[in-house]
Amino acid sequence: MTRLPAEPLRLDWLIRAGVIHSMTGDLYRSVGVRGTEIVAVSEEPDGLDDLAGSGTVNVDAGDLTLLPAFDDSHEHLMEAGRNTMLVPVDEARSIAEFKKLVHDAAAAAASDAWIVTSNGWNESHLAENRMPTAAELDEAASDHPVFARRGGHLAVANSFALKVAGIGPDTPNPPGGGIGRWPDGKLSGLLEGGAVYVVAGFAPPMTRAELVQGLGRASAAYAAVGVGGLREAMITGDELLAYQDAADQGLLRVRVRPLIRVGAELNEDQARTFIDGLGARSGLGDDWLRIWGLKFVLDGGVEGAALEAPYANDPKNSGHLNWDPDVMTRVCVEAASRGWRIGTHAVGDRAVRTLLDVYEGVVAQVGTLPPWTLVIEHALVSDAKQRARAVEGGFGITVQHALLWNMGREMVTTWGPERARNVTPLDEWLKLGASLAAGTDIVRPLNPMTNVWGMVTRGTRAAGIQGPEHAIPVATALELYTMGTARLNGEADRRGSVAPGKLADLVAYPVDPLTAELDDLAELAPTFTMIGGHATHDPDQRLAH
Ligand SMILES: [Zn+2]
Repeated sequence: MTRLPAEPLRLDWLIRAGVIHSMTGDLYRSVGVRGTEIVAVSEEPDGLDDLAGSGTVNVDAGDLTLLPAFDDSHEHLMEAGRNTMLVPVDEARSIAEFKKLVHDAAAAAASDAWIVTSNGWNESHLAENRMPTAAELDEAASDHPVFARRGGHLAVANSFALKVAGIGPDTPNPPGGGIGRWPDGKLSGLLEGGAVYVVAGFAPPMTRAELVQGLGRASAAYAAVGVGGLREAMITGDELLAYQDAADQGLLRVRVRPLIRVGAELNEDQARTFIDGLGARSGLGDDWLRIWGLKFVLDGGVEGAALEAPYANDPKNSGHLNWDPDVMTRVCVEAASRGWRIGTHAVGDRAVRTLLDVYEGVVAQVGTLPPWTLVIEHALVSDAKQRARAVEGGFGITVQHALLWNMGREMVTTWGPERARNVTPLDEWLKLGASLAAGTDIVRPLNPMTNVWGMVTRGTRAAGIQGPEHAIPVATALELYTMGTARLNGEADRRGSVAPGKLADLVAYPVDPLTAELDDLAELAPTFTMIGGHATHDPDQRLAH
């Protein structure tokens, strides 16, 4: 038995479980919680009984397996929150259903009001396996501007919305973006990269109160799948205020570590002024809400990733870089010197190589930085030389099998089968001793066990098994999803494992994920989730008292 020295120690919670995986190699049978923290663990179910008093809630969970709650290293809770209030086109399974949802929303809206959809959908969920067109959205609602974002880097707009945004057939592509056109030159409605933000700028923003409400709803949905914390991968300063309101009002059900966006549309002076004006630096906040750092976006998503070799389905296209590397290096030097951690979106191998140049340039000027100060987000396509450089430079990598799981089919089409099967080779990274933290980045609550199943099998939602040679063991996947993210957040002493002195962030399962059949992992749902000694998900009232 291990316990903190403070005596007398009366537990608020005494939980006895079938097995408790500490994530540091130890197995326990009971855990004691006082206030927000774990204060004692024991290998015996009754090993902590002498610490229980009249105020202790006893939870007999001998049928359950406990793990540290999942900690997602890269997800977009703010977007997921916003989605809870937008047209739920993620429910559509065909273009016709998509159009009907848009049509019904328009019928219920004030005349001329913008109809904005959730961005948590994907065309591969639609029977037609393609994006709707401007013409189809016109059929659904021609009297309203309609704007349907899909994920972070793609959207489709109807003719009304394109007109309001001043986009016509002759409008040049904006920096870092593309405006879709048919062979005859007419607009298709498709918007990629920077073009998404051009139209988004015309849609009315949600009020802060709405954002707060959305954060409450969405964070509860993440807690329900066993997530205890997530690193919010891109927000604005205004959105940080909404987070602060949500935390103050007790609405957050997951711990959040936000990254503030430094827009690629800023020139060097503007970017420096923006960073200087933030005043704070990484680490400000408390256990619920603590600023992680700054976010840069160097290339696009599946459709705009900067690749070394051209797209498989478009030999003239090899994606785009959003920053001039020399400018970005100087801006990052400024940021790192002011105490900021930096996470940079780099999906394609050309973006990864460019980012390594930038980060190595920063270290050359600022000197060696603490681990996880300079982070590569995604690195979906990388080669052996790049991976070795990342490890050599001490740059951490956030990895999201969920992206391959969700968009594997698009990756096979756009990047070709060879690059798709080698997306995020976790085995290769681990062989080199890379610093990895696991997450999702699919802007909706995904059962983390589905993601673990994917890391272990290389299984996907609609593209079969991709690169089975890159699979990793279950225990490693769980470790990257708990301790990995704790290290990324500089919180390895407070989170990520079950041990005295750590926050009481726990998730319970009806079977042991480490011994379950692999095929049962994908759908394995938690029985309860506890964060800081409070139940955040407990449908069966196992924590009721
Ligand atoms: Zn992201």
